Amino acid sequence: MRHRIAIALFLTSTSVLSAQQSRIRFEVSSIVDTSNSEISQVIRLWENYLNSKPDSSYINPCWSESEQLQYNPYDLVPHTWWGISLYVWLPRCKTNVLSVSRIRDSFVIRTMFYNSTPKDSGKVNVISIIQTGARLENGSYKLCNVLPINTRYWKKEQVGSIKFVFPPDHQFNRKLAERMSQFTDSLAAIWQMLVVPVDYYFADDIDRVAKALGFDYWPSEGNRSGPRGFVDSKNRIIYSGDSNEWYPHEFVHIYINPLFPNAHSYFLEGYATLVGGSGGQDLLWHLKRNYEYLKAHPEVDVLTFKGVDHWPANYFIGALLCKMALEKGGLPTIRKLMTYGKEDDDLYRAIQETFGVSKEDLDDFLRKKLAGYATK
Ligand SMILES: [Zn+2]
Repeated sequence: MRHRIAIALFLTSTSVLSAQQSRIRFEVSSIVDTSNSEISQVIRLWENYLNSKPDSSYINPCWSESEQLQYNPYDLVPHTWWGISLYVWLPRCKTNVLSVSRIRDSFVIRTMFYNSTPKDSGKVNVISIIQTGARLENGSYKLCNVLPINTRYWKKEQVGSIKFVFPPDHQFNRKLAERMSQFTDSLAAIWQMLVVPVDYYFADDIDRVAKALGFDYWPSEGNRSGPRGFVDSKNRIIYSGDSNEWYPHEFVHIYINPLFPNAHSYFLEGYATLVGGSGGQDLLWHLKRNYEYLKAHPEVDVLTFKGVDHWPANYFIGALLCKMALEKGGLPTIRKLMTYGKEDDDLYRAIQETFGVSKEDLDDFLRKKLAGYATK
């Protein structure tokens, strides 16, 4: 009990100190043993880091220098899946350190990012729960990614330019891995690009891979099964679940997305779906499934349809537009489509200039094209 009171007092003084010193609202759960000096050091380091504008590009003294040289952005979890960064929430949310665990020579900090309603209704909106590592580097603790810690028992196989990383209970399929490697080689050849090294993490479940990366909870967790993944195109790392050595969709993103940072999602997702399928199914499967539904629902707007299988129109209609563009003018037309911009107006302008179809006639045009391709 004494020990608990000591922790409580420490926490009170920490939060007062935090309120004075920092912009972010940083809390530590009462069950974390902050009387342990190493745990206390690690927590202070994490708090300092979150207050140090962690999205800024400078050598951050709180983070492992070797990882800052290895990755860009070096802090993988908040920069994967989130689009810009999880840390954009920092001024508007609270952070609560739920646990600090020792794993061999390292620590893993588990932190909840959340909002609570102003009138203290008890309702909490959890944004994410992430894991961050800390380890000794040149005699002092530095923060680090948990991915190498969490996958320390995973197997690794290099085939061509791809490093396959997967749980030890998976039987590696070299034939599929070689097919994947050949796919990337030919994609690079078509686009006249150099083949680049890619780290590909996969498992039988996306949540297993997300947790290995450091997501204890992420907003896309659960609900649907089936192959899916996400990509860190800057660091050339792919994460996928319910999948195997063959997962071409995300590899297309690795190669194509960096070429066109302002491309509309319809063309980025569309081209990846056209060439690499989506959710483990090829484009024709998606077209047929959505065509059947849309045929029976003339009231639905095709361009903004959410899709019958959780794959919205930017995947299958985007792919249809890319397929038509490819048939019309080959790769130069695809390149052009990628340059119009990210906004809705850019999408309409791209369609108007490429296919001569106005916004008013678009739904009718897409329904006819969809019928043509889906019933071939
Ligand atoms: Zn995609």
